[in-house]
Amino acid sequence: DIHAAQLDVTADFPILARKVHGRRLAYLDNGATTQKPLAVIETERRFYLESNANIHRGVHWLSQHATELYDDARVTVQRFINAASADEIVFTRGTTEAINLVAQSWGRAELRAGDEILITAMEHHSNIVPWQLLCEQTGAVLKVAPVSDAGELDLDAFDALLSSDTQLVAITHVSNALGSINPVAELTARAHSAGALVLVDGAQAVAHQAVDVQAIGCDFYAFSGHKLYGPTGIGALYARKPILQAMPPWQGGGDMIRTVSFERSTWADAPQRFEAGTPNIAGAIGLAAAIDYVQGIGLAHIAAHEHALLDYATATIGTLPGIRLVGTAREKAGILSFLVDGIHPHDLGTILDAEGVAIRAGHHCAMPLMTRFGIPGTARASLAMYNTQADVDALAAAIGKAQKLFGT
Ligand code: PMP
Repeated sequence: DIHAAQLDVTADFPILARKVHGRRLAYLDNGATTQKPLAVIETERRFYLESNANIHRGVHWLSQHATELYDDARVTVQRFINAASADEIVFTRGTTEAINLVAQSWGRAELRAGDEILITAMEHHSNIVPWQLLCEQTGAVLKVAPVSDAGELDLDAFDALLSSDTQLVAITHVSNALGSINPVAELTARAHSAGALVLVDGAQAVAHQAVDVQAIGCDFYAFSGHKLYGPTGIGALYARKPILQAMPPWQGGGDMIRTVSFERSTWADAPQRFEAGTPNIAGAIGLAAAIDYVQGIGLAHIAAHEHALLDYATATIGTLPGIRLVGTAREKAGILSFLVDGIHPHDLGTILDAEGVAIRAGHHCAMPLMTRFGIPGTARASLAMYNTQADVDALAAAIGKAQKLFGT
């Protein structure tokens, strides 16, 4: 029941009140990035107003204060995903950098020619290309588990592709293009019995459901702050402690060393070993504010609201004439991907924009998945906690207008 689940948090997101092309904004591009609540904007502003200094190097009060805020932010991330220790959290620029870190540090140290990395056909480019680069560097081989017409991972094919050569399974938790939720705990168990480590791309998951990395059992988990109502340029890599402690540095510089001489340098412990240079201090603190905000609302509440709204959108948009939904997995989170007969997704996106409806059109950085479905791309409406039935109604009306314009 959509009314039972209705959240009303739009007042916390001032940008939602602005007009676009003179129209009320229906922001349905949350898979690309979410809007930020006042709590996050104010926290970043306050950091620069009152607490700004570099961390770890300072003897002075302000530096120690900034360091404390940064360390607290790491603990906030740890608790958010239920990591066993804050030392298992590395701040990165986002999901993309977190995955590249694993590929270039763990991957280059551990993989040999003939080793295999298993991904799925529904991965974002950022969980494909870093592994291709690693394969070129090491002679490892990339394997791809197929997805069904509904956009669900083929579990039997996944099992068949796992072997003693599989060193890593890298899977998305939620597909950004289709919304399909993968059974990551189950997949992790299967991968572990084959002797492989598991990386989960959580970019599209953390804002939509509670994530517990220990319950999943994965070895690595990556996500971005900006899809979680936090700032851009900050994200996190979770890695199980024994694995992270054994990983070599991937970028060198200040703050990641223990000692440096011209003959030889030694490394700081993890996670500092993986945070060379001045990090995004304000971003990390802003991310912690976003997590506090999300937890204040409650992820169960957010998930219920978004599921009800997705059901409403699926019923409303899915039954319009000339619409084809792409991705009809039984387990889905927050994403409606579709095609409109006779209208290219980009043209549709432009017409919708003129109506104040913001969606994404194209391949969604998942070109191999579009190839799998034999389409160049889709139109994608992606939901967040602040979306309402009015946003979905605006989308439906705008699609009708586009169809009238195109005479379809
Ligand atoms: N993986 C998935 C599933 C995504 O949706 C995205 C962002 N669209 C990424 C990875 C990359 O995230 P970022 O650009 O924040 O690094």
